[in-house]
Amino acid sequence: MQILIKQPHLEKLPKGEKWRLTIHLEIEKGESHTLWYEIPSTFVDYLSTEVADTFVVAYLLYAMQHKYDIISERPVSSHLLAMLNEYLIPFLSGINKSLYPVKVIAQEYTGTFNGNHCGTGISCGVDSLSTVIYHGMEEQVSSRRIDTLTLLNTGYYGHNEGNSEHYQSYVSQSAQFCKKFGYAFLTVDSNVSNLTQYDFLSAHTYLTCSTLLLFQKYFHTYYYASGYPVFNFEPNFKDPAYYDTFLLNCISTASLDFVSSCSVLSRVEKTKLIAAHPDVVKHLYVCLSGDATHNCSKCEKCVRTMLALEALGRRDVIADVFDIEIYRKNRVRYMSYMLRNRRHKVYYKEIYDTMRENGLSIPALAYINILPCQFELTNYKNRVKSLVKSSPLAEKIARKMLSR
Ligand SMILES: [Zn+2]
Repeated sequence: MQILIKQPHLEKLPKGEKWRLTIHLEIEKGESHTLWYEIPSTFVDYLSTEVADTFVVAYLLYAMQHKYDIISERPVSSHLLAMLNEYLIPFLSGINKSLYPVKVIAQEYTGTFNGNHCGTGISCGVDSLSTVIYHGMEEQVSSRRIDTLTLLNTGYYGHNEGNSEHYQSYVSQSAQFCKKFGYAFLTVDSNVSNLTQYDFLSAHTYLTCSTLLLFQKYFHTYYYASGYPVFNFEPNFKDPAYYDTFLLNCISTASLDFVSSCSVLSRVEKTKLIAAHPDVVKHLYVCLSGDATHNCSKCEKCVRTMLALEALGRRDVIADVFDIEIYRKNRVRYMSYMLRNRRHKVYYKEIYDTMRENGLSIPALAYINILPCQFELTNYKNRVKSLVKSSPLAEKIARKMLSR
């Protein structure tokens, strides 16, 4: 059983501003995938299509889920080829028993590309902006300083054919940030997440970094923003953020080094770093609501960030970036959520500890409050919906109740 990666094909799109790189993958049982990437014409000369690194990393989990060896007609960078077969595949099949220990079979590519840029993603979230400050504005070593920011359609915007539109609504926010602070901007659209249909949380590093491996003639270092500090390293397949420091080394090449950025900082420390830069913090956007125009102040990520800012004594930033009235009105519920989750969720433990260290008094009502936050209610509703969908008996009961 195998996936055969064929030769890529590059063509200019009609309007001339973009190029499309297409790659055909032949999969057993007569199935095939046509994977594409749309690249701005200003970056097309930097494509490293001599190697199949991108496609191998993008399809690694897919191949392991379906027990397919990956065979490539193009060579794979030697460091990547060795690390995949000798470290990453055994590691993944060790931590997730539903993944098969498959093989990547290709010729090794021993050459190097000469990229001379450093980059990171620009979603304007806490991990992203803290990386821009840490390795961009405050980086001491000039050859390691970020000069390019990216926004890639590789899964965050959903797995459906229409996700390109959703992704486009976020492009202008990122482009404006780059223009204001003098960074080059690279944005790439792709159907990689539509084809692989991965659970995004457990595959985001693979999807994003595989796409960046297309640009080994441009980047020599790419900072992948870490979700959890290295102190919380865990061989936990649910989210590569737990094991990114190991993973990023396995999927780097001699030409492109992936670094788990700010992995020595907690989320509260990252928030503090951003809050110390008034011109940057204005752009902070953490919201999960899907509306790119503002932070809703009600979703779990907005709540988490507002609480961190309060713990740091930065209510002024809450007022600038969030809706302070919504925060005031729901503060007891938000604090209560933090108290209930401080023992098993890293972020809430950090916020709680910072509040205690800074002598912030937590309202007594928060300890006895039983009213849920709005996002908890939405989560309950969605869980009930999926339970009803998956259980014919539950669906029957729900229908009976509705017909009364
Ligand atoms: Zn929100």
